[in-house]
Amino acid sequence: MRRIGLLGGMSWESTAEYYRLINTEVATRLGGLHSARVTLGSVDFAEVEAMQVAGDWGAAGELLAAEAALLEAGGAELLLICTNTMHKVADTIQAAVGIPLLHVADATAATVGDAGLTRVGLLGTAFTMEQDFYTARLAQHGLDVLVPTARDRADVHRVIYDELCLGVVREKSRHRYLEVIDALVADGAEGVILGCTEIELLIDPDHPRTQVPVFPTTRIHALAAVDAALAQT
Ligand code: GLU
Repeated sequence: MRRIGLLGGMSWESTAEYYRLINTEVATRLGGLHSARVTLGSVDFAEVEAMQVAGDWGAAGELLAAEAALLEAGGAELLLICTNTMHKVADTIQAAVGIPLLHVADATAATVGDAGLTRVGLLGTAFTMEQDFYTARLAQHGLDVLVPTARDRADVHRVIYDELCLGVVREKSRHRYLEVIDALVADGAEGVILGCTEIELLIDPDHPRTQVPVFPTTRIHALAAVDAALAQT
């Protein structure tokens, strides 16, 4: 079993989910007392968020690249960035290490493709929904990506930073997200990507109110890591 390097803390609420999902999956696949070999690097999210707001992606890339190098030095054999948004600096991070980076958009696009869908809605931070580092990567896999209206994007973004990253889960926000999902479906989305690692804390992918398949990126990314960690060489 390869050692999985988790570059987390963005936020720690979702990094805890990565750790739980990866260990649950390894136990399911290997049985008994088996658990995952994991090295965790966890940053101070306040520092990263300040860089996001300032648009200082260069500094954010350097900070995360240094963390990734620490993970590699600690024995990690593959790397996960435990946030969709910070894949904006994935190339800088990958350039700092010799171990493979499992890109969350690649894993997600593969899962959407396996489900036979091409036209999908995307929920995430404003950075993820509005800049092309994520949507273009999905498009490279043949996906046609729809994003919510400006008003809906603002609400989705606000709930992520003001509630979910602080561990606050509100019924009112769940209701609002389901409205946004309904609007994407009305616009032709055949499925919806939960493209922020905290959204699964709010929206259960099996929620009976979602009329289309929903793709939870934390779960998808975590399972892709287990596939890679257990793959025969
Ligand atoms: N975890 C979130 C994501 O997947 C947002 C927090 C961040 O900005 O990294 O995009």
